[in-house]
Amino acid sequence: MLADMDYFFAACEEARNRALSEVPLVIGSDEKMQNGRGVVMTCNYKARAFGIHSGMALSNAYRIKPDAVFMKMDYPYYERVSAEIMATLRSYAENFEQVSIDEAYLDVSSIIKAKDSAAQYAREIASAIKAKTALSCSIGISNNKLLAKMACEEAKPAGICTVWEKDAKIFLKDLPIGKLYGVGKMTEQKLKAAGYDTIGKFASISPSSAERLLGSYGLVTLQYANGIDPEEVSESTEIKSIGRERTFDFDTSDIDLISETIRKLSSEVADEIKKQGLSFSTVTIKLRYFDFSDAFRSKTIRRSSSEETISKVALEIMLHSLDSSKKLRKVGVRVSSLSKNASRSLSQYIK
Ligand SMILES: [Mg+2]
Repeated sequence: MLADMDYFFAACEEARNRALSEVPLVIGSDEKMQNGRGVVMTCNYKARAFGIHSGMALSNAYRIKPDAVFMKMDYPYYERVSAEIMATLRSYAENFEQVSIDEAYLDVSSIIKAKDSAAQYAREIASAIKAKTALSCSIGISNNKLLAKMACEEAKPAGICTVWEKDAKIFLKDLPIGKLYGVGKMTEQKLKAAGYDTIGKFASISPSSAERLLGSYGLVTLQYANGIDPEEVSESTEIKSIGRERTFDFDTSDIDLISETIRKLSSEVADEIKKQGLSFSTVTIKLRYFDFSDAFRSKTIRRSSSEETISKVALEIMLHSLDSSKKLRKVGVRVSSLSKNASRSLSQYIK
């Protein structure tokens, strides 16, 4: 099963202030809502009715519905709610894999005896979450992760959808190619241009044509289009990376402002690293220019967990890679190649 919370951040806000569920509610990535420089992280269904959706520029959302309620993210609060949800979900699964703050795979194969009882079990899980947090989730059920994920999309909001492998062809056949898991905007355009506008049309091409079209990613995409996904639900909950980003109030090429922002972001990342008891050995910065072109630059360093290291390395990469002929819209700092701190401090003692 894939369990995914419905409009999670907005739903969290509704849970602690019921009045918000009566109005269009938009949660944004940015403090300066009215300037609308950030993007919509999520919004409730009242807002969606006006055509607002996640990923949209806040300025657009604001133009569409200026009297909607705009709120910024309260990440610490969402993480607390998430922890409660994940603990509940985990208690229903034999194997459990958290995918994001509001989404997790549950392997319930040995718990579900008859396939027709799967939906009943999912309903039980959804009610338990609702009872604990007042939030609604959607659940997709299948024999594999890919189909569970795609079934869950169909189930939204507050629904349960089952797609067994034997019915995958029929389920996938007429879905737009962009709905296939793993197909992003660029791939979607490529596939559409080649005449594959539905998953069904792409599913029947030869492996070699798929590779010609999409390169090394062709085979797995073809597999997905046929509803095949051999990946197990894996218990590992390891966080892959920790990052923070900030959109500037105005596009800028002011080095002082950019540096100051990188220092702030580094400090936020370092706080999170400390909280999670992690160390890192890769620092990455993301530069988004006024024209929405992105540049990512990374540097691998000796394992560290200090704020100073993040800040120093991030500033160094920025100074080396910033294209000063273009104004910057957004900057991000991220650390990866994470590991738990404990083993590191032990090895220090041994040395
Ligand atoms: Mg969700």
